[in-house]
Amino acid sequence: MVDIRVEGIGHSYSNDSDWALRPFHFTFKSGVKYALLGPSGCGKTTLLNILSGLLSPSTGKIFIGDADVTHKNCRHRNIAQVFQFPVVYESMTVKQNLIFPIRRTFRKLARDRQRVDEVIKVLELEPFLNLQSKSLSGFQKQLVSLGRALVRSDVNGILLDEPLTMVDPQRKQDVRRKIVASQEKFPQTMILVTHDQKEAMSFADEVIVLNQGVVLQSGSPHEIYNSPQDPFVAQFVGSPGMNILNGDIEQGNKVLLSDSKDIWSLSNSKAGSDCYLGIRPHHIKLGHHPDGFTIRNRVDDVELGSHGKAIRIASHGIQLLVPYDEPINQGDSIDVTLPFEKITIFSKKVQYSNL
Ligand code: ATP
Repeated sequence: MVDIRVEGIGHSYSNDSDWALRPFHFTFKSGVKYALLGPSGCGKTTLLNILSGLLSPSTGKIFIGDADVTHKNCRHRNIAQVFQFPVVYESMTVKQNLIFPIRRTFRKLARDRQRVDEVIKVLELEPFLNLQSKSLSGFQKQLVSLGRALVRSDVNGILLDEPLTMVDPQRKQDVRRKIVASQEKFPQTMILVTHDQKEAMSFADEVIVLNQGVVLQSGSPHEIYNSPQDPFVAQFVGSPGMNILNGDIEQGNKVLLSDSKDIWSLSNSKAGSDCYLGIRPHHIKLGHHPDGFTIRNRVDDVELGSHGKAIRIASHGIQLLVPYDEPINQGDSIDVTLPFEKITIFSKKVQYSNL
């Protein structure tokens, strides 16, 4: 098993000033699960297609181990791909589909037959083995597609391009669990493309966040959530994401929030004079507390979410989460406090992609 390394890889579909993917360096370490996370149009598929060899990059090089494969086509990269739509031979049984990828290369090796049996076990495909593939449901077909990638012991990585898109919501978790279980059994490099931050965070060892063709940050789910390096990452990850307060006039250690008349004194000198303030919704406290900034304002919206009530204070662009039984309604006037120690400070000197 070898690393996949990109050096200055970038792509423009038209001309060099209009990057679908801005040049960047990265090493996908062997046996690690990655998620490429970002909104529609951020460049995830472009990067995946460059890695698989379906797309030739405008600039940069790709190495698999020490071999420069930049100009090699898909067949010479030995990378398996699972797409949004399952790819199975409908006229074959499930078992025939699973054996097919290894028959051409390793016909005589008992070891690979054994691997097929293990794949069947980990994906729990035994009950369907002798069924014609065309009779399977969409999620079963997607498991077979995944199985077809996993049976090949020689691949350098498996690319998963939004493989859960066509799977029913009730089945998604089951398929995700099986993908993770299969990676534990066969520790191959996996690169999952998704715009669903929950999916990325629950699947990956390392998440790579993109926006507008820029790789903004990579790190463990814990790092991405707790130490975002960019306001976009902070807002995109979390349900709901981090609140970003746009302070645009500074006087010494005072920050005037642009969307209100509040002037806050920042005791934390590292803030300097140019900053954005970020805070997670569940860190905002109800009521006045001396250890933070207090805002008194009108509740514009109350929404029941999976983790409690989401309260929106539009005048400050703030959302907070409170327990379901908190008696707060739209139109109420409430005090909320943003504790100093929970505030993330983003310097305005950094050029953030979305600001
Ligand atoms: P999605 O989640 O919607 O698939 P994505 O993050 O995978 O989006 P890409 O498909 O890589 O994003 O697209 C990145 C940018 O490149 C977008 O602005 C898109 O419109 C543009 N783009 C993608 N494919 C082509 C193409 N074949 N020709 C021209 N522009 C393209």
